[in-house]
Amino acid sequence: MTGKPAIEGGAPVRETFLPFSRPAISEAEIRAMAAAMRTGWLTMGPKVLEFEERFREHVGTRNAVAMSSCTAVLHTALHAAGVRPGDEVITSPFTFASTANVVAHLGAKPVFADIEPDTFNLDPALAEKAVTDRTRAIVPVHFGGHPCDMEPIAELATSHNLFLLEDAAHAFGARYRDRIIGSIGDATAFSFYATKSLTTGEGGMATTNDDRLAERLRILRLHGIDRDAWKRYMAEGTWYYEVREAGFKYNLTDPQAAMGLVQLARADRLWRSRRRLAARLSKGLADVATITLPHERPGVTHAWHLYPILLDLARLRIDRARFIEALRAENIGSSVHFIPLHLQPYYQARFGYSKGDFPVAESTYERVVSLPLYPGMSRDDAQDVIDAVRKLAAFYG
Ligand SMILES: *Cc1c(COP(=O)(O)O)cnc(C)c1O
Repeated sequence: MTGKPAIEGGAPVRETFLPFSRPAISEAEIRAMAAAMRTGWLTMGPKVLEFEERFREHVGTRNAVAMSSCTAVLHTALHAAGVRPGDEVITSPFTFASTANVVAHLGAKPVFADIEPDTFNLDPALAEKAVTDRTRAIVPVHFGGHPCDMEPIAELATSHNLFLLEDAAHAFGARYRDRIIGSIGDATAFSFYATKSLTTGEGGMATTNDDRLAERLRILRLHGIDRDAWKRYMAEGTWYYEVREAGFKYNLTDPQAAMGLVQLARADRLWRSRRRLAARLSKGLADVATITLPHERPGVTHAWHLYPILLDLARLRIDRARFIEALRAENIGSSVHFIPLHLQPYYQARFGYSKGDFPVAESTYERVVSLPLYPGMSRDDAQDVIDAVRKLAAFYG
C-alpha cells in the first residue's frame, strides 16, 4: 500500500511504518554492556554500585537502590513501609497494572481516587477524600512525565502520616518547582523498561533520602540477606551471611547497569530531543479544533515520556479504536495509556470496583491516543505524524 492514500483522495501515505516507540540505544551502550560481560561479573557487582552512585548524584538524593524493575521497587518500598493485609493504599486508576498489583500482593486494598482532567494525574482533593483510618500509603503516578501536584499531596501525606511513594516510571528528568522528581517523597520508583526514557532493557531504581529505608530495600532486594551477595565472593569478603527476613530476588545485573550508565550520561540530550519533538508536534497540531494537546503547567518540567492527545468524540465521526486503525493505515504507530484499573476484571472481582466509579479516568480513556515521541524520530517523522493526524481530523471532522 506504499504511497497509496489510505483515505480516498487523501495525501499519500508515509512509505515505512513509524513504530510507536523505539529505544535510544547507541553503539556506546552495546560496547559498555559487552565490556561488563567480559569482566566476568554477570550479576550484581561494581557496575551496579557505580550506576546507583551516578543516579543518586543526578537526582540529588542520599540513596539510590537499583532493582530488576520499577514493579520490584514499588513492591519492596510498600513492604518496607509496613503495608499489611487490611491496609489501604491510595493511588490513581489511570496507571499501569503494577502500581496497584503490588498493593494486592501485600494483601492490602488499592483505593483509587480520580484524576485531574488536564494532566491525568491523581487529583489531590479527591485523594484527600479517600483517606480512612486504614490508609497507610499514597502512590501518586506522574502520568506521561508530567509531575503530579506534589505540594498538596505531600501535605496530605504528612497530615495523615502516610508513606509517600512516587511512581516515577514516566518521570525521569521531570521537575516540580525547584525539586527534581525523585527527591520529594519518602521514596520514588523509576523504571528502566525497554519503552521508558532511560532504559536498561528491564530495570528499576528506588531513590530516597531515608538511609534506614535504603538499607531495608537493599536487604529486601536480595533474599533478605544482610549484605550484598557479591561481597561474599570478593577476596576481602567472608562466607558468612544472615537472612534477616524472607526477601525477594529483585537485583539488577552489571551488564544492565553498564547500559544504564551510558544512558544516564546521555540523559539530558535525550530529554532535550523529546522536548523539541513535543514542541514540534504541539506547533503542528495547535489549530486542530477536534483534538486536545498535552500541556505543561507553569512551574513544572515535563519529562515528555508520552505525548497523549484527546479526541473530541462529539465532533469526530470516528471513535478512538478506529482512529488508531486509521493512523496505522497511514503507517503511524500509536498506543493507549491506560485502560483504567477499575475497569479491569481482577480489580472489579477482588475489590468491587465498577464502571462509573471514576468518570474523569473513564472519559479520558475513551478519548486518549499516545502519539510516537522518542529521540530516534527525525523532523520528517514528526511531520509525518502531524500530517497524518491533520488528515484524519479533516476527513472525519
Ligand atoms: C512501566 C510502568 C511501571 C512498571 O515498570 P517496570 O519497570 O516494567 O516494572 C509502573 N508504573 C507505570 C506508570 C509504568 O508505566
